[in-house]
Amino acid sequence: MRSLLIYGALVLFLMAGGGGADAAELGPRAKMQEISISLDPERHLVTGQSNILFGHGDERVSLSLAATAQIDSVRAAGKEIPFNFGGGKLVLDLPEGDSVNVTVSYRVEFNDPVSRNPAANEDPSYGVSAAITAEGTFLGGGSHWYPVPAQVPLNRKISITAPAGIEGVTNGARVHRETSGKLTRSVWEESRPVGVPSVSAGPYLIEERQVAGVTLYSYLYRSNANLAPRYLAAAAKYLSFYQELFGPYPFEKFAIVENFFQTGYGFPSFTLLGGAVIKLPFIADTSLPHEIAHSWWGNGIDVDLSQGNWCEGLVTYLADYLLKERRSPAEALEYRKQLLIDYASLVSAENDFPLTSFVSRNDPASRAIGYGKGAMLFHMVRSEIGDDAFFNALRVLARDRMYASASWRDIVAAFSHSAGRDLHRWLDPWLSRPGGPRLSLAQVEMKRQGDGWLVTGTVLQPSPPFEVRLPLRLETESGAIEKVVPVPDQNATRFAVFTSARPKRIHLDPAASIFRIISPAEIPATVNSLKGSTSLLGVITQDCQVQPEIFKAMLASLSQGDARVMVESALDQDQAASHDVVFCGKPQRLSLPSIPPEVETAFESAIAVADGDTLLFVVLKRPSTERGVVALFQPETVESAKKYASKITHYGKYGFVIFSAGAIQSKGTGNATVEGGVVDLSD
Ligand SMILES: [Zn+2]
Repeated sequence: MRSLLIYGALVLFLMAGGGGADAAELGPRAKMQEISISLDPERHLVTGQSNILFGHGDERVSLSLAATAQIDSVRAAGKEIPFNFGGGKLVLDLPEGDSVNVTVSYRVEFNDPVSRNPAANEDPSYGVSAAITAEGTFLGGGSHWYPVPAQVPLNRKISITAPAGIEGVTNGARVHRETSGKLTRSVWEESRPVGVPSVSAGPYLIEERQVAGVTLYSYLYRSNANLAPRYLAAAAKYLSFYQELFGPYPFEKFAIVENFFQTGYGFPSFTLLGGAVIKLPFIADTSLPHEIAHSWWGNGIDVDLSQGNWCEGLVTYLADYLLKERRSPAEALEYRKQLLIDYASLVSAENDFPLTSFVSRNDPASRAIGYGKGAMLFHMVRSEIGDDAFFNALRVLARDRMYASASWRDIVAAFSHSAGRDLHRWLDPWLSRPGGPRLSLAQVEMKRQGDGWLVTGTVLQPSPPFEVRLPLRLETESGAIEKVVPVPDQNATRFAVFTSARPKRIHLDPAASIFRIISPAEIPATVNSLKGSTSLLGVITQDCQVQPEIFKAMLASLSQGDARVMVESALDQDQAASHDVVFCGKPQRLSLPSIPPEVETAFESAIAVADGDTLLFVVLKRPSTERGVVALFQPETVESAKKYASKITHYGKYGFVIFSAGAIQSKGTGNATVEGGVVDLSD
C-alpha cells in the first residue's frame, strides 16, 4: 500500500498551465468564468452551464470539453451563436463588443469503471478520469468536465448542485452552502485561479476550523468521520510549519476530502484520499504533509514541463524527507540510503532517463528517478549552499512565481542567486544526463609521516564521469576526520588525508549525502531487487502449492509480467545462475542460498499459529562470488496465495515478508547489507 499511495500523485494539467505556447495562440484570456453543474448519480450525468466573460470580442475561441459531451446551446450577448464541436474542441467566433459574455449549456455522462487491480501497473488514477456514481463522484480536471479555456481565467466561480446530502468540493473558498428541498448546493470562488479544477462529491460529513487565516475542512464519509479531528490538527500543524518555511499559503482553504476509490491526489486547496488510505494510521504524517507542500510546489506554482517535472523531487525532499530529518538524523540517513538503494535496484540502463525527461511516475523506476534522484539533488544543493541560502531561494521562488509556472532553469537560477554564485555548470549535468557516478576507492595506502600518518588513495569512476564533491570519513584511534574531496569529471582522482592518530578505516560518502549509483555489494536483496531485474526467471518446483497462473500473477504484480516461467526439471544450474530467479516452492535439484535462521523461525511460528493460512516470500543474495538474487515464493495453500500474493509488491524495501491469519506477521531486510565503499586500514 505504502509504495503505491504514499507519494500522492499530483495531477498535472497541462492545458491551462500557460507553460509553452505564446499568448496569441492561446486566444483571449477570460476575465471571469462561472461554472454551474448539477450531478445526477443515478444516470452518471452532469448537466452544466458555463458563463465566460471576455474583455473584448471579434476573436476565435477554442474551449476543451469532453468529446462525449452533448452541447445544448452556445449563446453570446443574449443570442444563440454558431459553434463547431468535435474531438473534444468547441470552437466559436466571438461577436464584436467591448465585453462579451459566452454561455455554454451542455451535458456529459461520466462513468469510468474503477480498476480493481491497480497494483499491477502502479496506476495512481485507478483508471478513472471521471465518474458520477451512487458511491461518489470524481471529475478529474483532465476529463474536461466543463468548457476549459486555453488560459486560466482571472477569476473563477464554481457551483455544484447534487441530490440532498451529497456535498461537492472543488478549488477555492466556499462562499455559499445550502440544502433546500431535494438539493444540496455549494459555491466555490477562486480569487487567483490555477490549473483546471477537479471536483469531488459524496455523502460527506463536514468539519471545519480556522488556522492563521486559512479555513480547514474535512469532507469525510460517515465511516471515517471520527478521524476528522486528527486530520484537521495535522493539517493545521503542517500548514504552519510550511508557511514559516516558504511564506504565505497560496489558497483560501485547505480540505481533506475522502474519495470512493483509493487515490492519493493533491489538488489546489484540497487533497483527495481514498477511504482505505485515510484509515491508515501514518497517512496524516506522511501523505498529508506531502500534499500540503504541493500547495506551494506544483499547485500554487505550476510546473513548466519543458525541462521536466521538478515538483515531485522537491516535495519528496521537503515533506517525506525533511520531516524525518526533523525527528532524527538517524531516520534521515536511513531515508537517503533507501533512495540510493531504490535507484540502484530499480533503475537499469534500459529504463533510465534524465530528470529533465521526468513527467510523472508510471512504474517503480520512474518514481526512483523523478522522486528519489530529484530529492537527492535538492539535498546536494542544500549541503553545498547551506540552509539559509537554500530556504531563502525557496521563499523567493514562492514569492515571485506563485500562480505562474517555473522550470528547472528557474529553480537553479534561484539557488544561484541566493548562494551568490552560478550553480548552472555544476547542476546541469545532474539534470540533463541519465544515471550518476559509480564511485569506488582504490590503491588506499597509509604510511608514517613525521609524527603522524598519511593516507592516500584514488577515487575511481567509470565513464562517463561526473563532477562530485565527495565526502570521505577517516576513522582513527582518536575519532573521525571528515574531508570533502573535489572529484572532477575524470576516471581517477588522487586524495590524501593526514592524521596524527593511527588510521582505522576510510569510508566513501558515509552519510549518503550525494547522489551516486551504489555498487551491488551495498544493496541488500529486497522485493525491489526483483522489480528492477532485467533477467528474471520464474521456476516452478514440485513443491509449488499453486497453479502457474497464480505464480505468474504474483510476478506481474512485481512488474515482471513478461518474465519467463519454467519448471525446475527443464533448467540446469548454469542457466539458473545466469539469471535472477524466483522459485515457487523449495527447489529439489537447484540450489537456494541459505535462508537466515530468524526468517525460518518466524515462518515456522506463523505456521504453528495459522496452519494452512501462511505465505513466505524471501529474497536472498547469491554467495559473494556470484551476482544477482534468488527469491522463494512459498504459499502454504492456494487460499493463502490468493489472499496474500498480491500484497508482496507493497513491501518493496524488505528482504522477507511473512503473512498469516489475515495480516503481515513479520518483515525485515533478511541478509544484511554488505557495507561498500569502506577500506579497512587497521592491519
Ligand atoms: Zn507528490
